[in-house]
Amino acid sequence: MCGIVGYLGNQEAFPLLIKGLKRLEYRGYDSAGIAVLSEDGNLKHHRRKGKVDDLLEHMSGSVPTGNLGIGHTRWATHGPPNDINAHPHLSGNGQLALIHNGIIENYNALKETLTNRGHAFYSDTDTEVLVHLIEEIMQKSQGLDLFEATRVALNEVIGAYAIAVIDTSNPNEMVLARKSSPLVIGIGDGEYFIASDATPIIEYTKNVVYLEDEEVARISLADGLKIRTASNHRVTPIVTELEMAIETIEKGGYEHFMLKEIHEQPRSIADCLRGRLRLGHESIRMAGIDDHKEMWTKANRLIIVACGTSWHAGLIAEYMFEDFARVPVEVEYASEFRYRNPVIGEGDILIAISQSGETADTLAAIRMAKEKGAHVFGICNVVGSSISRESHSGAYTHAGPEIGVASTKAFTAQLAVLALVAIRVGRLRQVLDEQRFNRLLVELNGIPEKVEALMSKEPELETIAEEFKGSTNALFLGRGYNFPVALEGALKLKEISYIHAEGYPAAEMKHGPIALIDENMPVFFVATQDAHYDKVVSNIQEVKARGGRIIAIVTAGDKEVANMAEFVIEVHKTDDALVPLLSTIPFQLLSYHMAVKLDRNVDQPRNLAKSVTVE
Ligand code: GLU
Repeated sequence: MCGIVGYLGNQEAFPLLIKGLKRLEYRGYDSAGIAVLSEDGNLKHHRRKGKVDDLLEHMSGSVPTGNLGIGHTRWATHGPPNDINAHPHLSGNGQLALIHNGIIENYNALKETLTNRGHAFYSDTDTEVLVHLIEEIMQKSQGLDLFEATRVALNEVIGAYAIAVIDTSNPNEMVLARKSSPLVIGIGDGEYFIASDATPIIEYTKNVVYLEDEEVARISLADGLKIRTASNHRVTPIVTELEMAIETIEKGGYEHFMLKEIHEQPRSIADCLRGRLRLGHESIRMAGIDDHKEMWTKANRLIIVACGTSWHAGLIAEYMFEDFARVPVEVEYASEFRYRNPVIGEGDILIAISQSGETADTLAAIRMAKEKGAHVFGICNVVGSSISRESHSGAYTHAGPEIGVASTKAFTAQLAVLALVAIRVGRLRQVLDEQRFNRLLVELNGIPEKVEALMSKEPELETIAEEFKGSTNALFLGRGYNFPVALEGALKLKEISYIHAEGYPAAEMKHGPIALIDENMPVFFVATQDAHYDKVVSNIQEVKARGGRIIAIVTAGDKEVANMAEFVIEVHKTDDALVPLLSTIPFQLLSYHMAVKLDRNVDQPRNLAKSVTVE
């Protein structure tokens, strides 16, 4: 969670920090702050509860000058979101300013020790201990510079962090460190840009260094970039080139990022399939599988770990793998899996799914699985992210930056990648015959066009949103491949409209939720013509008999459900396994319009953050 930015160079830092914070605001937005240091050592420090615009309003036009600065947009873990808890935090002597993303787990013990030694704390955050600890080490050792003092301090710290620290006695340098929270250093011409991800950096430079876990770095105008490990070994920085284009992180005429991202799906799914799905050659090419054919052929079991929307993609993948490859699959919440004592080892493949590639629980599950001897296959969207680097093999979703907090195009790209993997593995394991394999390739190849066609349904979904915007509850029901779509539909609605929604397997409804149904309850069915169609039709009858209001996603041309439902949205026919790539789109548009009509903050819904880097 939270976004970190920093700048050191010859430009004014403040405008760059603000622009960067706005780009990162999707990561956390309960408070914001900056610290800017001028050449003569004058530190300007401003913090405010709320969004970056609230900070600017609070600063009422004052523009701190200086070429060195740090900024933070917070997602509170310790202490309420208020002005005092907002970052940067200062050392007792006011000499150091520090920003932090993550959690210091042993902060209580450190705070107690430091308090006993005379340090006064002002905030409720875990973060503040860091700046006091570094200050104390600098004072006691007399001679240790900020770089070294930070390294020594971090050896006493348990937890997760990405930090940036500046020192008023040296306006030409900044010290950085990371463990389990991401940090990117952009290398410009005589200037450096720091950020939690590359989005604030891309317009200034394409050359970046991703700091690794347990590395401490110093950027200095005199000395350049130096990196050492926490245990004090020198590391040679590896500069990589960003492939992201600036247009991909701007709204491009749409009112919200979420709407832009929904509409980008025909292209993002096509991008995901490009070069992998080779229709003319009747093959799928994926390095993550091609390089480990034997392992995939012989795997005893697949374990899919993920959180949130990615977990829903994992559930759909479970059905695909069972269907196409006849391999046992388990789908686990990463946060549960990592704290159990799961039976996993050699011969198992752990598939980890995460949009950001930084999800703390998923990352921890990966580390555990690796220790126990499993092979880890990572599926993430953010290139160069921690999960992509820590997995043995994997596949990027290539959906492009997703800024809206509610995941849309990253989800469908995950489904597309998982379909490719399952089909490819099905062929490897000789479960899919050539005919079915080729038919699936043709169907998968046709998905982007069918998604494009669905965009024309937006006015109908806006009408449905208008009709139901006053609802306080909603049910989403589906079976088979469309059961996880129902879960995802409910999640999408609740996260951005704050309407309480539940997703259920349609038949399971009878074991409880049916009690909720009355004439006010909207019940959203996925009732496409697949293997479960007749059963879903019966479930619709059951809801109708109890007065529920039925809205159904159906296959184009369907008459039966259309006669029972108040509203229907048609999707094109495709293979059952690929229907979720279509049936999920109307729910995205519905949730979006519901949230807009209710005047919610669509791209930054309350309490949420995009990249969940705390457990
Ligand atoms: N744990 C810190 C706090 O609550 C940092 C949270 C964050 O990553 O935004 O202030």
